[in-house]
Amino acid sequence: MSEADSYDYIIVGAGSAGCVLANRLSADPRNRVLLLEAGGDDRPLHNLGQFWSNLMIHTPIGFGKTLNDPKVNWLYETEIDEGSGGRKHKWPKGKVLGGSSSINGLLYIRGQAADYDGWRQSGCEGWSYDDVLPYFRRSEHQERGADTWHGTGGPLNVSDITERNPISAALLDAAVQAGIPRSDDINGAEQEGVTWFQFSIKGGKRHSTAVAYLHPVMSRPNLTVATEAHTARVLFDGKRAVGIAFLQHGRMRTAKARREVILAAGAVASPQILELSGIGRGDILQKHGIAVLHELKGVGENLQDHYMIGCQWRLKPDCVTVNELSRGPRLIREILKYGFARKGLLSFAVAHVVAFCRSRMELAHPDLQFHMMAASMDLEALGRTQALVLEKEPGLTCTPCQIRPESRGTVHIKSPEATAYPAIVPNYLADPIDQDAAIAGLKWARKIMSQPAIAPYLAAPGDPFGDTDESMLAYSRLAGATLYHAVGTCRMGRDPMAVVDPQLRVHGVEGLRVVDASIMPRICSGNTNAPTIMIAEKASDMILGKSAAAAA
Ligand SMILES: Cc1cc2nc3c(=O)[nH]c(=O)nc-3n(C[C@H](O)[C@H](O)[C@H](O)COP(=O)(O)OP(=O)(O)OC[C@H]3O[C@@H](n4cnc5c(N)ncnc54)[C@H](O)[C@@H]3O)c2cc1C
Repeated sequence: MSEADSYDYIIVGAGSAGCVLANRLSADPRNRVLLLEAGGDDRPLHNLGQFWSNLMIHTPIGFGKTLNDPKVNWLYETEIDEGSGGRKHKWPKGKVLGGSSSINGLLYIRGQAADYDGWRQSGCEGWSYDDVLPYFRRSEHQERGADTWHGTGGPLNVSDITERNPISAALLDAAVQAGIPRSDDINGAEQEGVTWFQFSIKGGKRHSTAVAYLHPVMSRPNLTVATEAHTARVLFDGKRAVGIAFLQHGRMRTAKARREVILAAGAVASPQILELSGIGRGDILQKHGIAVLHELKGVGENLQDHYMIGCQWRLKPDCVTVNELSRGPRLIREILKYGFARKGLLSFAVAHVVAFCRSRMELAHPDLQFHMMAASMDLEALGRTQALVLEKEPGLTCTPCQIRPESRGTVHIKSPEATAYPAIVPNYLADPIDQDAAIAGLKWARKIMSQPAIAPYLAAPGDPFGDTDESMLAYSRLAGATLYHAVGTCRMGRDPMAVVDPQLRVHGVEGLRVVDASIMPRICSGNTNAPTIMIAEKASDMILGKSAAAAA
């Protein structure tokens, strides 16, 4: 290994967390930083081999295309999942600069203060809501302006919807009529309520962490970004991480870390890399012929995800939804609108309206989230291949999702090969609390869709859930899919099953941290991109030895 391959910090994975880390750690020109990404460059003109895929990344409506595009997407597949009807689920995850923030649904949600206070109460010192709020604010440029909860001047743009489809507006009104309070800011003082989503979009284009954090600093001489570089394992000297081995263009290469190796490869790949490096459950490692460097039984355990239950309604033939805007002369008009003004269909994220409510009124905080939109898809194709095919007739979507599931799954290696996919076992709806919440979610959906505000648009009243709890649970098992929020597989904590400590250092070894969605002890109550960015913002201060006060 030459001095040229030696860095202060090596970051594995240029996703939501990795791009933030690369920016913050290389801000000091004395730090030499290497950022490795298994996927390619996301900029269309810098990577002509995936020009079209990259164009789809940066155009918000392109979400529907990248969702099953293997050029920019790992397209993992779960094992057979009994709780969701004995199906295997496709799990998209970004494989490109920006990671999943380059292919996600662009929805900006933080979760509840109670989520982070819960992390703190479980022993994760420094992670209460008061502790993390400055990092949410630091990351953000809120187009509405700054207030107690929101920041301006940060790298990540947060914007409002530019056009309000009347059917989405009717859905919002119907939710209010059903008893969910109207909110202006579900990322502020109180999450409960219904409102228009805010988005990681700037000027009609996706604001991934690659765009927000990485592109502006890629010319720093002390930052090296290596694409198509698949990390195989962490290299150790005794129990100290000293570098990594990675595959690039068919060759196994190494790079040396003088200070730290930081895994930011996401909730599927970070535990996989730990196991490939000899850190994990001894029996699993031995089964695959991997020498145990340090036994850490929690690696790959505690997998959590949000399971959304697909619920759609047919609308009257004269309704104009995203389905209609996406075809024929209307589509041409929308393309022109986007070309000239960066507005209209192509600038839309996939969901428009969001509601948070409680499955049981005695709960202190909402445990259900609804994604609502004036669009409907072929759910069978979505579940089977992740192809997002809009229906031919007008339709709307109003999907419930339990946001604090109790069910836990696992991610473990199936092979010692670095490029083999691990076994993902989601265990959806395994816990009775999750089953009850699913049933309650369908009852809320029925209630919303029975309100006068939405009635004029519906082709026919009714829904396919059936009238009993049993039929609703059966529907939930068959009509659900991932909401793409895998977390928790390298859990932070101080107990024997924790993988990293509250400074995100891997227990039992030195010079190695995990900084990504996998460190969440419990999934936060909502979409996970903004929380992951917050985690990386906070981790960068920890790594650089800056006090939390620096973020305020
Ligand atoms: C389809 C989809 C839609 C979503 N929609 C939303 C949404 O609307 N709002 C929201 O808040 N959240 C959403 N999420 C979730 C959110 O985007 C993720 O929680 C977040 O991006 C996770 O960040 P991360 O840094 O942990 O992982 P990632 O962003 O996935 O980054 C991991 C990176 O590591 C790279 N990598 C993996 N293995 C290796 C290896 N061996 N060597 C080198 N590099 C490697 C990957 O290619 C990737 O770039 C969505 C996710 C997906 C997939």
